[in-house]
Amino acid sequence: MSDTHKRRQTVIDRFDPLGIDALLVSDETNVRYLSGFTGDSSYLLIQPSGTTILSDGRFTTQIAIDCPQLQTAIRPPSQALHDLVGSVIADSGARRVGIELNHLSLAMYRKLTAACGSVQWIETTDVVETSRQIKDEIEISRTREAVEIAERALEAVLASLSPTDTEREMAYRIEAEMRRRGATGCSFPPIVAGGSAAALPHYHPDQAAIGETGILLIDWGAQHKGYTSDLTRTYSLATVGTGGDKYRRAYAAVLEAQLAAIERIAPGVSAAAVDAAARGVLERHGMGEAFLHSLGHGIGLQIHESPRIASSSEQTLQSGMIVTVEPGVYFAGEFGIRIEDDVLVTDGGCELLSRLPKGLDDCRLML
Ligand code: ZN
Ligand code: ZN
Repeated sequence: MSDTHKRRQTVIDRFDPLGIDALLVSDETNVRYLSGFTGDSSYLLIQPSGTTILSDGRFTTQIAIDCPQLQTAIRPPSQALHDLVGSVIADSGARRVGIELNHLSLAMYRKLTAACGSVQWIETTDVVETSRQIKDEIEISRTREAVEIAERALEAVLASLSPTDTEREMAYRIEAEMRRRGATGCSFPPIVAGGSAAALPHYHPDQAAIGETGILLIDWGAQHKGYTSDLTRTYSLATVGTGGDKYRRAYAAVLEAQLAAIERIAPGVSAAAVDAAARGVLERHGMGEAFLHSLGHGIGLQIHESPRIASSSEQTLQSGMIVTVEPGVYFAGEFGIRIEDDVLVTDGGCELLSRLPKGLDDCRLML
């Protein structure tokens, strides 16, 4: 049984409790997850008797390459997607069809309702996303590769950095080095933030020369065979100093918080408890207020996936989840520090997928 076939079977196993006899998958990432199809503008109709991909002529060849085992319904240029859905559902005999509430516009819903006559739509949420939380072997190995590419790329960039390079130049070179190593691109636009800009958790790289900044926060990741990595390191430039006593104390606290959270990760542990492990350390160091965001998130086909590792999260960790652990502290006008790794939840606890050194002394750059 292929990986995508197994994934579709897991979704079909949930039809009875959901009260549906078919699921119309309209989210592009969910379509990819369940079929391997790498194009866009296409839906899946999943039924216990088989799965049909609904697409158009641009993707006929792509479908033959990516998912030859599926039934196909290709619409001519004169036919709209909702009309194709109408005819495929009419032929399928499905009566109660699940739709993805989070991934269908109201306009499309109205068109589908007009095109599908007597079908009863059943609103569903997170049916496929719940499956996507637990990674299978191929997903884990692709994520490992995405992490490896990101780490080697950053090492290459750091080894050839000059003080006159700008944040934007460095972001560009991180992407280039990842692509050179086989990535299809960045999993998100890299953050390269020098000095006080590092105090902005979602900063956009600017034209500042990094040699003048003192502190360099880099948040980057590779996209590889569809899968993402997401890492952060914060460096101090030896030429400028380590940012003083406050920086050193804050760095030690963030690292301690990150290690405490990773230590806590195991199946059956609540995501909120993992967040609390990190937050508790920072609070003890008097820096709880400076930790402006939640601790982490799942990664996979998308850079932000379920589960959320947050104080408000009601999710429980399960073996096969891959999550980021990224505590940070931010002092406006001064500096910010974040340390982020990717962690696989395993039967016995967890495995750190990213290994780039992260001690204060490891993270001093000589330019
Ligand atoms: Zn990140
Ligand atoms: Zn992240």
